[in-house]
Amino acid sequence: MIVLDQLTKTFTHHGQSATVLNSIDLEVDTGTVFAVVGPSGAGKTTLARCINLLEQPTSGRVVVGGQELTGLKESQLRSARRRIGTVFQASSVLSRRTAAGNVALPLECLGVTPAETKARVSELLDRVGLSHRSDHYPHQLSGGQRQRVGIARALALRPSVLLADEATSGLDPETTASIVDLLDELRRDLDLTILAITHDMSFVRNLADSVARLDHGKIVEQGDIVDLLTDPVSELGRGLLPSVD
Ligand code: ATP
Repeated sequence: MIVLDQLTKTFTHHGQSATVLNSIDLEVDTGTVFAVVGPSGAGKTTLARCINLLEQPTSGRVVVGGQELTGLKESQLRSARRRIGTVFQASSVLSRRTAAGNVALPLECLGVTPAETKARVSELLDRVGLSHRSDHYPHQLSGGQRQRVGIARALALRPSVLLADEATSGLDPETTASIVDLLDELRRDLDLTILAITHDMSFVRNLADSVARLDHGKIVEQGDIVDLLTDPVSELGRGLLPSVD
């Protein structure tokens, strides 16, 4: 479970301060998917970076899996962060490492033995449907396959929470749908809690249980997908309806 309690982030630059997140309250239940949408500059990436404390919140609390991360010392934070996997755009996989090499990276950093790393990498590549591509480099893979590598890498340390920041951006609708199916399967099989930042409403409709719209650092609208779909007055509800063309 993820709980954000009055989360505020203010950046100060050359004496000027800007509040990028303004008293955000948010709860993501274990095993559910929460989507965050909003215009460019709304604060979405900063929100994700505050959850794993890559960005230190100015005030408020971040609680993940019952543990408050805000206020932890760096050494405690390092182990707490292992419970949080992050998926970025497909282009974030390392081009000079094979699929297997990318997935192995977090395990190597932790000093996991080569034998254990090999077994774990093969299990993860199998889980994302890429066993037959383990020795391929990113340029030899399709965009969707590259993103499967990114997802396998995010799961390497067996996290309970997954942060997905524009995970399907740049992918065509069909590939996006296959990544959505994979994330849904992983959520069910591993009881993952997922916070997904996206601008793709089909992603939200097909994967998320709840969605919030962030604007100028504030949540301006939020709700369960099912409720929103039946509420034609809400902007989110209208955005969620499949376009007929
Ligand atoms: P996009 O959809 O374009 O990625 P976003 O909603 O993810 O946008 P953020 O990247 O969180 O938005 O940025 C929100 C605001 O915070 C922007 O105005 C940005 O310039 C500012 N900002 C982000 N990081 C920093 C930083 N390290 N120092 C100063 N300002 C920052």
